[in-house]
Amino acid sequence: MFNHYNIEDIRDRARAAFIGMAIGDALGATVEFMTASEIASKYGIFRDIIGGGWLRLKPGQVTDDTEMALCIARAIVKNQGWSLEAVADNFAAWLKSRPIDCGDTCRKGIRAYILNGQLESPPNKWDAGNGAAMRILPAVLFSIPDDELLKKYVIEQAHITHNNPVSDAACICLGELLHMAICGAEKTRLLRHVDGLVSRFPTFKYDPYRGLATGYIVDTFQTVFHWFFRARTFEEALVGTVNQGGDADTTGAICGMLAGAYYGMENIPKRWTKKMDMKVLAEIDLVTDQLVSASPIARFQEAIKQ
Ligand code: MN
Ligand code: MN
Repeated sequence: MFNHYNIEDIRDRARAAFIGMAIGDALGATVEFMTASEIASKYGIFRDIIGGGWLRLKPGQVTDDTEMALCIARAIVKNQGWSLEAVADNFAAWLKSRPIDCGDTCRKGIRAYILNGQLESPPNKWDAGNGAAMRILPAVLFSIPDDELLKKYVIEQAHITHNNPVSDAACICLGELLHMAICGAEKTRLLRHVDGLVSRFPTFKYDPYRGLATGYIVDTFQTVFHWFFRARTFEEALVGTVNQGGDADTTGAICGMLAGAYYGMENIPKRWTKKMDMKVLAEIDLVTDQLVSASPIARFQEAIKQ
């Protein structure tokens, strides 16, 4: 059933998704909370990884988006399976390590876990930030190509901090798009999938694009969809996205994972990869390999070889 997939191609796209996410985070963080016109008057078109920004980052330094994704990745790898407690434990240790940045909803949920062992935040119509979606990639890689497993992992990890139907729908849609792109789907197929989300949740309609790129999940996804679908390269998608400003590290991270999955490693500019923190890239390579190797697709292909 899965034997028509090329596992080497899947590994390449999975790696490009994870590295693309980190690049989007590091690139966008410089212009986070700026407006598009502030970015334009300061940089013209902003297109290089230079650090700085309100967090005063080193060039290539990543923020909470990548760090929380790595928390999930390490939990799966260490447990050799899915354990929500292990994910929450890693979030807790991360928060206690005084991270460079942490969103309010994430902080609240992780604190409730530390104080009461709460693994699922109560439903909240205001918790529709992008903090659950930005970190889903390890759960996506570990479930390739099984969309039922994907849903379970993605929603369980989301609800540690964000329990909201709009956030949930966005997380699932992004996860499915990533599965499809990593398995080699064409853009027309991805576009149809997003059309499905928009018909169920019209709030995600992104054409005409309103130009809002805040941390609200709807604004974040409209921005990513707008730039991903109109761009013809990884670079074009990411530059367009982060130049909208707003929550630029997170729109950058989400666009970076999607565009990375779609275009693969060879389309990621070397001038960006070279600027990244080498330790972070090395860990990404390692965990990506382990997550893909433990996914249903790789296990199936191993089984039929024997
Ligand atoms: Mn961030
Ligand atoms: Mn952010």
